[in-house]
Amino acid sequence: MRFRPKNVLIGLALAGSGIAISALAGANLLAIILALFAGAAAALLIVQPDQPEEEIAAADGAVPAPPSIEAGPILDAIEDPLLLVRERRVVLANAAARAVLGEHIGGADVRLAIRHPAAAERLADLGEEGGKGRIELLGLGGNERRWEMAVTRLPDRSRLVRLTDRSQMHAAEQMRTDFIANASHELRTPLATVLGFLETLLDDPDAPEGARNRFLKIMLDEATRMRQIVNDLISLSRIEAERYTLPDEPVDLIPMLREVEDTLENVVRAQMSEVRVEQLAGTAMVPGDRAQLHQLFSNLVANALKYGREGHPVTIRLEEAGAMLKVSVVDEGEGIAPEHLPRLTERFYRVDAGRSRSVGGTGLGLAIVKHIIGRHRGRLDIKSMLGKGTEVQVFLPRWRDAES
Ligand code: ADP
Repeated sequence: MRFRPKNVLIGLALAGSGIAISALAGANLLAIILALFAGAAAALLIVQPDQPEEEIAAADGAVPAPPSIEAGPILDAIEDPLLLVRERRVVLANAAARAVLGEHIGGADVRLAIRHPAAAERLADLGEEGGKGRIELLGLGGNERRWEMAVTRLPDRSRLVRLTDRSQMHAAEQMRTDFIANASHELRTPLATVLGFLETLLDDPDAPEGARNRFLKIMLDEATRMRQIVNDLISLSRIEAERYTLPDEPVDLIPMLREVEDTLENVVRAQMSEVRVEQLAGTAMVPGDRAQLHQLFSNLVANALKYGREGHPVTIRLEEAGAMLKVSVVDEGEGIAPEHLPRLTERFYRVDAGRSRSVGGTGLGLAIVKHIIGRHRGRLDIKSMLGKGTEVQVFLPRWRDAES
């Protein structure tokens, strides 16, 4: 299809509104399609007045005639699948539509092109409404994919069908729902224990002192666990809220790693292990958020101690790695099976939930680590061998003098 711009046309198609239709009636088809295409926030198209080109040139002096525009490449550049349908025939399909629905949909009945019962029902309607509006299609082009189909009637009575991929938005929505369900579940379990023991104590005010103390100790442990979960949830949401603010404080990692070692002294002693800090880097300055970096390394060293083997050392190694500094936290514990590695940074994901809870884990430590590293524009690598141990590597951009 060749498109020669003839009309003055400023089409402002606000997302989802379709307000441009009447303003554009009578304009060129491609112009209408582009103006109706309400993808991001707005589409703006300006072409020449409806006047012979020679007259324009004469009136304006030496203004050359506008070049003709090839429609195909423009429509193909649109990332959403787009179909132009006359009666029930597909007369135009852009590259994205062909990729999702098949190369041979040009000329086909639209109900065969978009093989989905809800879409077929809508598009079968040739009446005044012509299946106008938006509906959701599940499973088109893959089981898990979700599309929104929008049908718009054009002035020449053909219809423009646009599919917008909503799969990612739906997956994000699902993650949010799962997160709330998981967080509620994690809090409900210790809360039920606390309430159960409180009721027992109230029902039996004369319980022997030994039993009373045991119950009180359990309640204290469970309440402490709830506090830890709430603190971790607050940390996560704070880090997420700051994710677009680049940390810019100069932080020296050498004293910081020593501080982390000191903070965890009690755990180290309980585990009868030791933390060795190996500094191979000359300088270890990074642009960072001091409190968050402290939390990052505390979480990793605490994990190495929790899941390491009693009496075996935990090593923190600091090295230069080009433009980055690399901090490795190495333990000699049981290690992690490969199938778990990709999921470890998901909120509340644990390899062994019972073990994690028994060592005071919340299942949020590595999610916090991932978000802090993301905010610092760094990288996280977890390597592990069953029976041998785990090495967690953190790469952080080095401080450059230009930053001072
Ligand atoms: P948790 O609070 O349960 O420790 P994390 O988010 O810190 O939660 O870690 C997620 C899971 O990853 C843990 O429950 C544990 O199964 C596993 N994990 C983390 N670090 C190690 C490690 N150094 N060795 C073995 N398993 C680990």
